[in-house]
Amino acid sequence: TAKTGGRARAEMFRPDMGERLRLRMTMERDLRLAVSRKELRLHWQPQVDTAEWRISGCEALLRWQHGELGLVPPMNFIPMAEETGLIVELGAWVLDEACRVGAQKLPGLMVAVNVSPIQVVRDDFVNVVRKALAASGLPAQRLEIEITESLFIDASPKALKNLETLRQMGVRVALDDFGTGYSSLAYLRQFPFDTLKIDRAFVRELVTQHDARAIVRSIVDLASALGMSTVAEGVEEPAQYELLRRAGCAGVQGFLIARPMLIDQVVEMIESWAMQRAPKSDSVPDSI
Ligand code: C2E
Ligand code: MG
Ligand code: MG
Ligand code: MG
Repeated sequence: TAKTGGRARAEMFRPDMGERLRLRMTMERDLRLAVSRKELRLHWQPQVDTAEWRISGCEALLRWQHGELGLVPPMNFIPMAEETGLIVELGAWVLDEACRVGAQKLPGLMVAVNVSPIQVVRDDFVNVVRKALAASGLPAQRLEIEITESLFIDASPKALKNLETLRQMGVRVALDDFGTGYSSLAYLRQFPFDTLKIDRAFVRELVTQHDARAIVRSIVDLASALGMSTVAEGVEEPAQYELLRRAGCAGVQGFLIARPMLIDQVVEMIESWAMQRAPKSDSVPDSI
């Protein structure tokens, strides 16, 4: 009958599908407990300004230290957190923790925090940020929130209003992964970002691809014309750094400088930074 046929088909798929479904359900169940179990961790990646070759800030990047799965990267649980709404609780934890650590251990530096569109559209978002600032003592001017372009797909008026309120408080707002999303240019007219973060995809091809270089230069010029700053992500090689510096990109972030690290390692790096020299690259073509 059709019934047994259906069961037979289900049987055929079971090992793989069942496994994945079970893992997903386990993760979802465990993620609900991650905050109270104190399994969330922030790693920190320094940002360096190209003009002075100084560490100007650090981006907080979330990880989940799961009992059996080990250290889970954000790609493997943020989407689930967004689908289940858990991102609201997780995101509030990230803001609290990032502001607290930033105020205590990163004197004078910018603290960059990724936030999900789901947080930004909520009525309580401004208050969540306000509370994180108040509890930590971090000045609003030292907090930069990073949002991705997907937020603007429906250009929620509530989201724009929240971001505007935060900017009036002095919080900076960065557009993350710029250039890879949807109709990026339209978003720039909807909201006055402080910073555009140039996506790693362009940085990766900077040295070998002429068009990537043209795009990066255009992004930097466009940002500058609109009064916005630029930070390039995913900078791994000295030649990439040199081309970005020449293009006028204000900040760089990437494995060339440091991988995301524990806060104490960042503090050590900052302390020994005065000794560092900007990377030199002999193999960079002149024209950019
Ligand atoms: P993102 O904000 O664009 O962060 C940059 C990602 O690139 C990070 O991955 C970082 O580890 C990685 N990266 C940095 N430098 C280099 C490099 O030189 N080469 C390469 N290949 N990769 C580099 P990570 O930590 O796995 O985070 C992935 C994404 O997860 C982030 O992308 C961000 O969108 C999201 N995310 C991370 N933490 C949070 C959070 O607290 N809340 C939310 N909503 N999203 C977060
Ligand atoms: Mg980011
Ligand atoms: Mg990014
Ligand atoms: Mg990215």
